[in-house]
Amino acid sequence: MAPIVSVQNLTKTYGNGFQALKGVDLEIHEGEILALLGPNGAGKTTLISIICGIVNASAGQVLVGGHDVVRDFRQARSLIGLVPQELTTDMFETVWNTVSFSRGVYGKKPNPQVIEQVLRDLSLWSKKDNMLRELSGGMKRRVLIAKALAHEPKILFLDEPTAGVDVNLRREMWQVVEKLRANGVTIILTTHYIEEAEEIADRVGVINGGKLLLIEEKNALMRKLGRKQLRLELA
Ligand code: ATP
Repeated sequence: MAPIVSVQNLTKTYGNGFQALKGVDLEIHEGEILALLGPNGAGKTTLISIICGIVNASAGQVLVGGHDVVRDFRQARSLIGLVPQELTTDMFETVWNTVSFSRGVYGKKPNPQVIEQVLRDLSLWSKKDNMLRELSGGMKRRVLIAKALAHEPKILFLDEPTAGVDVNLRREMWQVVEKLRANGVTIILTTHYIEEAEEIADRVGVINGGKLLLIEEKNALMRKLGRKQLRLELA
């Protein structure tokens, strides 16, 4: 089966001359959970931002569902949901309005049934009329995911969804990711926790210094490198 996302020879040099990506090739399979594992500054956010069409590449190509993310931006973007690292949303808005608005941004017609299902899937239904500022940290993170799912994308990118959260919240996030995959969504998440990649991913890509050093089914990766060597790759 053709990959749902295909990345070829992607490079990125920022305006200050810093080369954040140095020729990345990557194929993402429909229905998988792929973890992109790498230390701070490895290039993870740059890579997913280019795939999502919000940062332009210096060279290379990204196809999403067969659509070139630059030339066919609207078609490609409609297949993608992106959950950013930061909580960038209006804290004085209700959960329902926040998530509904996000659907409209993608030019999709309002569909209350879809919004209700998304909120139920993320255990936010009982909070639909609450303002975001009234929610716990875990709920706010789930609202970000709901926003990214409101236009019914096939692929969800989560940028370090568990950075800086406690172990309970991390487990809660893992359960959410599993549930979404069971709903048929392809998931790509970035992380710098080896344990997280081991716990939830089907495949793990190791990124450092702007290069995808290797990408393997997770058990094969652990057999090949082991945690100790993996830690060295990430150092
Ligand atoms: P983190 O885990 O800290 O989020 P990351 O793996 O996501 O790291 P990126 O955010 O992609 O890494 O950054 C890769 C490198 O590119 C870093 O050295 C960063 O400082 C640099 N960089 C990112 N954005 C810019 C920019 N707009 N201008 C210049 N350099 C940038």
